[in-house]
Amino acid sequence: MKTIYVDNNATTRVAPEVVEEMSPYFSELYGNPSSMHFFGGQVNTRVEEARERVAGLIGARPQEIIFTSCGTESDNTAIMSALESNPGKRHVVTTRVEHPAVKNLVGHLKREGYRVTELPVDRDGLLSMDEVSRIITDDTAIVSVMWANNETGVLFPVEEIANVAKSRGVIFHTDAVQAVGKIPINLAESQIDMLSLSGHKLHAPKGIGVIYVRRGTRFSPYIIGGHQEEGRRGGTENVPYIIGIGKACELAANHLEDMNVRVRGLRDKLENGLLEKIPNSIVNGDRDQRLPNTSSISFEYVEGESILLKLSDQGICASSGSACTSGSLEPSHVLRAMGVPFTAAHGSIRFSLSSYNTEEEIDFILKVMPPIIEELRAISPFWDGSVARSSTAS
Ligand code: PLP
Repeated sequence: MKTIYVDNNATTRVAPEVVEEMSPYFSELYGNPSSMHFFGGQVNTRVEEARERVAGLIGARPQEIIFTSCGTESDNTAIMSALESNPGKRHVVTTRVEHPAVKNLVGHLKREGYRVTELPVDRDGLLSMDEVSRIITDDTAIVSVMWANNETGVLFPVEEIANVAKSRGVIFHTDAVQAVGKIPINLAESQIDMLSLSGHKLHAPKGIGVIYVRRGTRFSPYIIGGHQEEGRRGGTENVPYIIGIGKACELAANHLEDMNVRVRGLRDKLENGLLEKIPNSIVNGDRDQRLPNTSSISFEYVEGESILLKLSDQGICASSGSACTSGSLEPSHVLRAMGVPFTAAHGSIRFSLSSYNTEEEIDFILKVMPPIIEELRAISPFWDGSVARSSTAS
């Protein structure tokens, strides 16, 4: 059975070019970049080249790039750094739809006595700018707003929000883990102070991340140890993975156009085809302010998990907007924050494409999805052929 992988917001295939470039750093080029000898020096030069490649993708200066272990560490570093650099300030602003890397950290901060404002989103998953400026006070240490939502792909106007934060003297961080490599980013022309990204979302391996820290931003390290990364992140550098993320960023820069034209076209073909062929299907999130690769669609009156299993039987890998915890299917916090009705949130599927997807794969999904939904609706207690039997499911 052929695997059709449309779950690229979960993780991506490591690009063969990335594997090839990393390979010598597991074998012959194993030096420590901090060592004084030529062997370490050689490796250090390549680490700095990788830093330049990462910086190049997001319009940053190489000195503003710090390597971390993952997107989660980068998010934690940014928020904790802002709090530590502003010890008198006890207020954090974020949104209701952040990834757990931010959401659960601010939950922890709340329990520690910090005041946290989680900005609401509307039915399309969009934020209100008025709300952002209204909520910042003299006590605000950081505003942290994701660039692109991992479930719906909805984009937030982070550059605009950064301007507002800046005008109020507040640090602005964005979790751009899903945005980097999918949309053009030029930090040189923005007021964003800190940005997180993660290797495994852009065809580098899992376990490597980056935090961008704008020159002049007050910064406090999260992992305290050796002098690596100019004392901003302790721990011997994960050299092969740093080389890998450098190569992946270079490839991503070259693939941005493919992502925005061909991949967007495949996503639209898939989405429009499913909406046309399957009644009672709804796109979650604004269809314009959105990543080019992501489509979250709710198929009313069926369970997302059941759809996923049936897709999996056909070799198709996607994901759902509900999580099976302790036997009950709970719609995700993102769909709940958007006010997606329960009957729809339950049957939501996220398709997330990459440059590796083909037209044939999309045609295959379009062929197998309608009978899957029909079959599942046939056994749904809420579905009556074309209309819902009851809308009281809660
Ligand atoms: N932020 C967002 C928006 C994500 O989608 C993810 C991963 O799914 C993360 C942060 C965490 O990144 P990592 O898996 O590298 O820790």
